[in-house]
Amino acid sequence: MVEHERRDRFMIAPERRAFVARNFPGTTVREWNDWRWQARHRLRSLADLERVFVLSDDERGAVLAQRGGLPVGITPYYAALMGRDDAREPLRRTHIPVSAEQVRGPGEYVDPLGEDPAMVVPGLVHRYPDRALFLVTKFCATYCRYCTRARLVGAQGEATFSTSQWQNALAYLEAHPEVRDVLVSGGDPLTIADDKLDWLLTRLRRIKHVEFVRLGTKVPMVLPMRITRDLVRMLKRHNPLWLSLHITHPHELTPEANEALARLADAGLPLGSQTVLLAGINDDPDTLRTLMHGLLVRRVKPYYLLQCDPIVGSGHFRTPIDTGLALIDSLRGHTTGYAVPHYILDCPGGGGKVSLVPDHVVGRDGDDLVLRNFEGDLYRYRDPGGSLGRDRALPPNLAAPRSSSRPGKRG
Ligand code: SF4
Repeated sequence: MVEHERRDRFMIAPERRAFVARNFPGTTVREWNDWRWQARHRLRSLADLERVFVLSDDERGAVLAQRGGLPVGITPYYAALMGRDDAREPLRRTHIPVSAEQVRGPGEYVDPLGEDPAMVVPGLVHRYPDRALFLVTKFCATYCRYCTRARLVGAQGEATFSTSQWQNALAYLEAHPEVRDVLVSGGDPLTIADDKLDWLLTRLRRIKHVEFVRLGTKVPMVLPMRITRDLVRMLKRHNPLWLSLHITHPHELTPEANEALARLADAGLPLGSQTVLLAGINDDPDTLRTLMHGLLVRRVKPYYLLQCDPIVGSGHFRTPIDTGLALIDSLRGHTTGYAVPHYILDCPGGGGKVSLVPDHVVGRDGDDLVLRNFEGDLYRYRDPGGSLGRDRALPPNLAAPRSSSRPGKRG
């Protein structure tokens, strides 16, 4: 084994070794740890899935019924994290189609965020004045069934946008000095070869008015061996470069993912997470808290908890907004503030992000704003001249003369 392979080597957890022996006999450690081997051996067909999983009738029927649309794609590594026999296992539910995917519910759209009308050149979405979204590839290591860009990713044989398309997008950015922030996404930009990605980031960095570049990726969770030391060295050259990591469930926080995240964090790359809220997958307080705590100790700031966008056939993934608010309430005040993400809804049709926040304002009593804290206790806060809460009738007992065992406390 040559030196750089030794340095790049990831550990293989014992469960993964058993998985390899059962499903990919004869595969060497070197092959398993080669991200290109993983990409080549993704599970793409019914036969591939049946080799690894005991499929339910519903899953089998859904895969057979697929005609175009978002393909199936799961790296062997990620498949090894999923339940073999249990169709309800969380990660498996995010990647193996079920029949509910074929049901188009009211308010669901092919392009829910209205990105296509704002695509100024192929692959470049410019809707907000100072920010642009640069879709650099249609290829993902794995295909999430709730993907907002299901219309795009995996399409046309998983084509990468061509270099000439990249050039057109770069020319547009150069000609628009109002753009100071570029989110490089796709598809997954970390599935692009190092030299091509380096070229792209170098070109972006050369644009004087682009002061902030982010990469959106799920690769550290589904293909951690892609985070080679060469890749990290290259990314580090483009610092400050922020990474938005798509992370779904604590089961993704494996020793292999830990190593990938540590390499990125050690390189000084700021890491933030984006988690899509998914019914029956991560929509309970224990799972979400475990995930957020797990991210913090791995030096990833929990950033967004995203309401699942209304793409066609995603109704089975969506929770009521009340659920998301209750989850934020279960975190705020009950754990470290850094562990509490912003709960975000992206308005359909291109209205942009709206932050959804549990309401702790009870009402107003003259100059006193009455608030409910995380334990359900009421507090008064002097807010002379304010109007917040004026439209809410206070319960009669709260209008009584003030007395409190703690400053400001009521009730
Ligand atoms: S990794 Fe991201 S872009 Fe790719 S399928 Fe999943 S959600 Fe969509």
